[in-house]
Amino acid sequence: MKYFSTNLISENASFKDALFNGLAPDGGLYMPVEIPELNNNLFNSNMSYPELATEIIHPFVENEISKNTLINICESAFNFPIPLIQLDDHLQILELFHGPTFAFKDFAARFMARTMQFFMEKEKMERTVLVATSGDTGSAVANGFYNVDGIKVIILYPSGRVSKIQEHQLTTLCGNITALEIQGNFDDCQKLVKTAFLDNEIQYQRPLSSANSINIARLIPQSVYYTWAWMKANRPKNIMISVPSGNFGNLTGGLIAKRMGLPIAKFIASVNSNDIFPKYLQSGEYLPQEGKQTLSNAMDVGDPSNFERIKSLFNSEIKSISKNISSVSINDEITSETIISIFNKYNYLADPHTAVGIKGLEKICSKNEKGIVLSTAHPGKFADAIEPIIKIKVDIPAKLKKAMEKEKNSIIIPNDFEVFKSFLINNY
Ligand SMILES: *Cc1c(COP(=O)(O)O)cnc(C)c1O
Repeated sequence: MKYFSTNLISENASFKDALFNGLAPDGGLYMPVEIPELNNNLFNSNMSYPELATEIIHPFVENEISKNTLINICESAFNFPIPLIQLDDHLQILELFHGPTFAFKDFAARFMARTMQFFMEKEKMERTVLVATSGDTGSAVANGFYNVDGIKVIILYPSGRVSKIQEHQLTTLCGNITALEIQGNFDDCQKLVKTAFLDNEIQYQRPLSSANSINIARLIPQSVYYTWAWMKANRPKNIMISVPSGNFGNLTGGLIAKRMGLPIAKFIASVNSNDIFPKYLQSGEYLPQEGKQTLSNAMDVGDPSNFERIKSLFNSEIKSISKNISSVSINDEITSETIISIFNKYNYLADPHTAVGIKGLEKICSKNEKGIVLSTAHPGKFADAIEPIIKIKVDIPAKLKKAMEKEKNSIIIPNDFEVFKSFLINNY
C-alpha cells in the first residue's frame, strides 16, 4: 500500500516511510491511496481479536510486513480483553481500557512500537521517538516502546498540568524512556517537538520519529475494534457508534472501517466544550480555537489534527461528512450528571470521556435505535475528577497504584528551544 499526503505535494510513501516520518515532507498527513474492501467471509467469521486485526491490517502493510510477522505483532500488541458490556437493550459499551496504561491509546501505541521494532531489527536502525503529551498519549507510548532495542523515547509534558496518576505513569518507567518536564503548557511542548523535527543538526545527529496521532500507524489499528464491536453485538443491521473525540484519530479509524465495508449506520463524534467540529457541521466553517480545560482533559483540543484526514476521506464535501457523522458537545455539568445517572441506573462507573460519549449517543439516538459507546479510559485513571462528583471512593487498579508508589524521575527543562536542543545532542 502507498500513502499520499493530504497536502498533495509530497510523493507517495511506503508504509514504512509513513511510519517513521510521521508527517509528510509537505506538512500534510499520510492517508492510504485506496481503502481495501473487507471480504464477506471475514464478517461472518469467529476469529480471535489478533486474527481479526491481522486480516484487517494486512492490506495496509502488504509487501512490507508478511502475514506471519503481522500475526505475531498483533498477538503481542493486543493481549488484553476487549469486552462489550450490555447496559440495556439499546446501549452497549465497548471497553477499550484494559491495556497496560488503562486508556484506548494502548492499541495504537503498542502496534506502532512493534512495527517500528520489526523494521529496525531488519535494518539495524536507531531512532529517537519524540512525543508531546497532555497525559494519556505519553504513558501509552512509553509503555509500548519500553525496552524496545534501538529506540529511545523522549516524552515532553507540561509541568504541573497532568494528573498525579498520569505523571507517575510517565516518569517511573526509566530504562529507554526519558521524561522531560517542560516549564510551559502543552502547546509549548508541541512547539519544541515540531521545531526539533525541522532542525537539520538534530536530525543529522539523532534521527527523530513522532508518535503523536499525526502518525498513520496509530490510526490503522484503531479500525479493528469497530469491526470487533459489531461482531460481538451480533452483527446488527443498523447501529450507531458514539466516539468520545479530541484529535479525532479514534473516529477516523471508524470511518476507515466503514469505508472497508463495515455496516455502521452513523458515527457520533461526542466532544466536550471544545466544540469546533459540531459547529463546523452546522455552519460549514472550521474555526480552530484555544483548547479549553474540561473534566475530559484528553479531549481538550482546539484544532483537531485529524480533521484534514476526515475532509480527505469525503473530498471535503460537508454533505457526505454529515451523512456519516453527527456531532454533539457536552459540557462539564452534563458530563457530571451523566456519570451520576449511569451509576445510579446501571451501577456502572464511566470516566468523564466515556460519559461524554454516552450522553452524545443519548442525544442523537431515538428510543428504538441501538448504539455502542466506545469507552476510552478506566474510571480509576480519573479518580481525582470522579470522586467529588459521585462522592464514593473509586477503585484504582493495582498496577496504577504501584506506579504511584514508585519515585518520579523527570528532568526539568525551561521552555527554551536551545536548552532542549543541547539536551538532545549532548546530554543524552
Ligand atoms: C486521547 C483520548 C481521547 C480522544 O481521542 P482522539 O483520537 O484524540 O479523538 C478520548 N478519551 C481518552 C481517555 C483519551 O486518552
